Amino acid sequence: MRALSNINARSIAEAVAAARQANDAGQAFAFSGGGTDLLQQIKDGTAAVDVIINLRPVTDASQITSNQTETVIGGLITLTDLAADATLAQRMRVLTEAAASVATPQIRNVATLAGNVTQRPWCWYYRNGFQCFKAGGDQCYSVNGENQQHAIFGGGPSFIVHPSDTAPALVALRAAFDVAGPSGNRTLSAEEFFVLPSQNPARENSMLNTELLVGVRLPTPAENTVSTYFKVMDREAWTHAEVSVAVVLEMSAATITSASIVLGGVAPIPWRSLEVERFLSGKTLDAATAQQAGAMAIANAQPLAKNRHKLPMTSAAVERALLRLVPA
Ligand SMILES: Cc1cc2nc3c(=O)[nH]c(=O)nc-3n(C[C@H](O)[C@H](O)[C@H](O)COP(=O)(O)OP(=O)(O)OC[C@H]3O[C@@H](n4cnc5c(N)ncnc54)[C@H](O)[C@@H]3O)c2cc1C
Ligand code: SF4
Repeated sequence: MRALSNINARSIAEAVAAARQANDAGQAFAFSGGGTDLLQQIKDGTAAVDVIINLRPVTDASQITSNQTETVIGGLITLTDLAADATLAQRMRVLTEAAASVATPQIRNVATLAGNVTQRPWCWYYRNGFQCFKAGGDQCYSVNGENQQHAIFGGGPSFIVHPSDTAPALVALRAAFDVAGPSGNRTLSAEEFFVLPSQNPARENSMLNTELLVGVRLPTPAENTVSTYFKVMDREAWTHAEVSVAVVLEMSAATITSASIVLGGVAPIPWRSLEVERFLSGKTLDAATAQQAGAMAIANAQPLAKNRHKLPMTSAAVERALLRLVPA
């Protein structure tokens, strides 16, 4: 069995220093938030790790702070605390609903927002030791194999779906991502943060391995903004989205003035549906608009042999999410 050591970081600076030290010493290391994904990966042998840098003792990255222009959420906030924040639930409901939809209460009590966004793919091949692109190999086993839960947008050469529930909500809210590492801090837009397999088949985001996600910045939504997160699963609870959608709408009475529509469970990154966003702008939000938006959401989909069921699911998810927001 591989020897494993643990470093308890008490601040982001200590975590960065520990990462630099392990990297310089040639040790394989990983940051651990709640450990709900990482520890299983270590047990299964998917993650080869010599040093765990435990972020749970860190106290400077789990708060929510707001000013007039933005809300900053520390990456180490637990999903339970995120889901329960009353101010966020009022102004950015899509995010609290997404956090509340993850896994189980027990997992949400320890799982962090940063860990949720940076969790590795749950493709069966990757999680069972196949040397595919995500494991440093040079092929994808799912493309001609089991691909029921894989991408219908943006796939190739890996066809994973991005597994995070909070990521589509963050992208719909136009989040920026604060990252810290040995070379300093940087803030990345969603377009810079998430990467398609065509850009880098081994990774889901553009952070270097010595960098960690410190938090997210959300611009203050316009006054008449409404939002929701709609998730379809293959069973009642405890699992990732088969398909999901994060919807953020700026409204003027019943008219949509601006729309943000981001799909989850269907692409290797949270997938902005730009066609639907354009279509919705200026429309009255009613059942007919919701139905047309749902149909439009799959216009450019490219399903694999075994995941065509995601097409009607995606349409229905978009339609139902919009119906939730129809003014009373
Ligand atoms: C039964 C079960 C059901 C699940 N259902 C869902 C679900 O419905 N929806 C969903 O989205 N997820 C689900 N998950 C996946 C996962 O447990 C959660 O996403 C959880 O939020 C991960 O957070 P964590 O803090 O425990 O991450 P960890 O396990 O600590 O870390 C996850 C990954 O992120 C890296 N990491 C952690 N923190 C940082 C950081 N600050 N910066 C950079 N990298 C970091 C780790 O090295 C690791 O690779 C499920 C997991 C299980 C076991
Ligand atoms: S979809 Fe991605 S994770 Fe799954 S086998 Fe293909 S390359 Fe590996």
